[in-house]
Formats: sequence, structure tokens, C-alpha cells
Amino acid sequence: MSKAEIKSNKMLNATMGLKNIMGRHFLAIEQAYRDGKPTAWATSGSPVEILYAMDVQPMLPENSATVSAAQKYSQNFIEMAEEEGYSYDLCSYFKTNVGAVKSEADMIKGGTRKPTFMLSTDVICDTHVNWFQVQAERFNVPHFTIDVPHVVSNTNQRQYNYFKKYVVEQLYEFLDFIQEVTGHEYDEERARQITQNSWDLSMVWQDIYELRKVVPCPISTRDTFGGLFPLFTMPGLKEPIRLYKKMYKEAKARVDNGIGALEQENFRLMFEGIPFWYNLKYFGTLERWGAIIVYEPYTYAFSKYMNPNVTKEMVLNQPIEAMAELMLSFWYIYDFETRVKKFEETVRDWKIDGVLLHNNMSCRPNSCGLYDLKRKLMDEADIPCLIIDADMNDPRKLNETQVTNQIESFIEILRQRKKK
Ligand code: SF4
Repeated sequence: MSKAEIKSNKMLNATMGLKNIMGRHFLAIEQAYRDGKPTAWATSGSPVEILYAMDVQPMLPENSATVSAAQKYSQNFIEMAEEEGYSYDLCSYFKTNVGAVKSEADMIKGGTRKPTFMLSTDVICDTHVNWFQVQAERFNVPHFTIDVPHVVSNTNQRQYNYFKKYVVEQLYEFLDFIQEVTGHEYDEERARQITQNSWDLSMVWQDIYELRKVVPCPISTRDTFGGLFPLFTMPGLKEPIRLYKKMYKEAKARVDNGIGALEQENFRLMFEGIPFWYNLKYFGTLERWGAIIVYEPYTYAFSKYMNPNVTKEMVLNQPIEAMAELMLSFWYIYDFETRVKKFEETVRDWKIDGVLLHNNMSCRPNSCGLYDLKRKLMDEADIPCLIIDADMNDPRKLNETQVTNQIESFIEILRQRKKK
């Protein structure tokens, strides 16, 4: 690639391929219905690899909810759910899904069809379980839930071993459940292939993130916010690995030529939380200050193979045990001390000037502890933080002018700090 071809200030060319990959995911869903193949709804954080390994086509309603938001349908669906009595404060993904199902929306508007069964887990939040309970009753389909205990600051090894055993047992029960509902048997060789692909996909994503440590940063949220979706809809398939490798190659070429995603990089930020899917363009407005987001825990979290106890060998030879360990150590369920430590390490390694914390009005896992986190990072590690109030899928909860004013003042603080 010649230097002239490597431009900054735009999305990577490779990321444009994301549309095709996601298009194939939705086509695979259509094809499954045509072929009479079993389908399953799955919540994020659940072991989607098991569905692929058992030849069940996964559908992720959270992914579909983001489609609704991007297509500007989410508010309408959310209001339909509120007319049914669901509160203004409830998860806007859930309410988007309620409205989309009620109006029998097409996939292109974020609709999700009746599946053969549903798989939920409380690994990230209890809303997932209640959401699928409501919809499984509506569709009259079986629903399997995996209960994942949270590892907290004082969890000892004995308790951890018990947690792991508890999750492993549920995963084996889940294999029996799938066999009973679909007639499909667990094929170890197929499972190994799927987990190998899942591992490879995550590793390339982590390599992409390593490149974001470089100043200037070669990759912006234009690539990572959308680029994240294959990680939770298609872990186990080969196509997204090829896409990520292309993204990596192109970003590496930028690094080798000292080219950043912005022409002028002044401030490096972290964004904690789920982006505003109905207004992704908003993040581009940071560029007016030469500010770029170089790390999002949310998009990194889904490359889940971060637990040093989970080696590639374990993933290939004991996939069920590996899945259990990963569910117990997901980025979003870290105890408070570990979370603070992770933030401090990330700020140091990615050379971050300031942290934007999205106080997500309808998501407890994303908003709980945010003020404590801010205080700890600011008081004890001298890391500038700003909390902004909004919502990932409900445009009514983003006051753009207010947020812009807050960010502008925050950038001014960062500018003054740099002068010292
Ligand atoms: S409450 Fe938060 S974590 Fe739970 S489903 Fe909604 S957005 Fe996801």
C-alpha cells in the first residue's frame, strides 16, 4: 500500500466490509428458516459458540435493537413498549425488542423472528433473563437460562471452584436441552473447530486494540463501534476473522507510516459504556477538538479471552470448562477494585488523557458504580473523568447541546493539564 493510499481522518477501508459480513449473518438466519434449521435467541455474554457447535442458528436481539436505533426506529418501538406498561427507565434494548416484535418488524428494521428456543444468562444483567422470559412466553417457546455467580473482591478459591463447577454443570445441562429440543447431538470435533475460530477472532481483535496504543492512534470508533458485532453474533465462524485481519493490516500500515485516524491528534480519550446507536455520528464531533477515543471497554470486552487461566489449549480441549471460566471473568462483571485497577492500567498503556463515562439511563450494569469509579480514578490516580447522561437506544435521553458543552469544558481542562 503506497503512502498516498493510506489516508487518515476516515474509516478503514476494511471496515466497509462489515456490512457484507453482517449481511451474511442475517442471510444465514433467513436460510435457517427456509431450511427448517433450529434457531435460538441469545443474550450477549452467553456462549453463542455452543449454538454454532450444535448447528443452531443464533440471533442476538441486542444486535437487532442496535439496527432499529441506527435506522431511527428505536424510539417508536420503545414508545410502543411503554404503551404496554413498561417503564420509562427500563432497558431500551428490551423495549426496542418488545416494540419490534409487536409490530412484526422486518430484520432490516431490527425485527427478530420467533425462534426454536431462547438462551439467556444473567452474566451481565438480570434484565436479560426477564426479557427472554417475557418473550418466550409471548412466543410460547422453551427458554434456557444460565445462572452465573459474580466473583467479588473477597471471593476465595474454594468459592470460585464451586462457581465454576456450578456453571460447567449448567452448560452440560444446556447441551442436553438443545439435544432434546432440536435432536442435534454435541459433536466434539465441530465444537473444537468453532472454539478455534472464536479464539482466533478474539486474538485479532486484541491485536487491533494493541495498535490503538500507538500515537497517533490509527483506528477510531468509526471502526470499532460497528466492528464489534461479529464478536458476539458470529464467534466461531471464519468470515469475520478475515475481515479483522484486513482491518489489522490496514491499521498497521498506518502505524508504519506514522499516520493516525485523525489528521491532528491532540487528546486521547477512553469511552466507557455503550455508544448512542441512534447517533453514532455524534462521536465524530470530538474531532473538532482533535480528540479521539482510543479505547472502549465495551468493544474490548467482547474479545472475552482475557483470562490468563483460559489458554488456547484449554479452549480446544475443554471448551465447556473454558466457556465457564470466561463467563466468570467477563470485563463487565469485574468487582470494583479490579475494575479500578483495569482502568488505571488501560489509561497508562493506551496513553489516555481523559475518560468519558456514559451514565446510561436505562442500563444498570453500565451506570452502577460510575460515580464511585469517577471519584476513585480522579482522587487516587489523578485521571480526569467526565460523566455524561444519555442512553444507548433511546434518543429522547440524549441532550446533545448539554453533552457537547460538558465535553467542551472537559477538553479545556485537558488542554490546561497538558500545558503544565
Ligand atoms: S440493562 Fe444494560 S446490560 Fe442489560 S440488556 Fe439492557 S443494555 Fe444490556
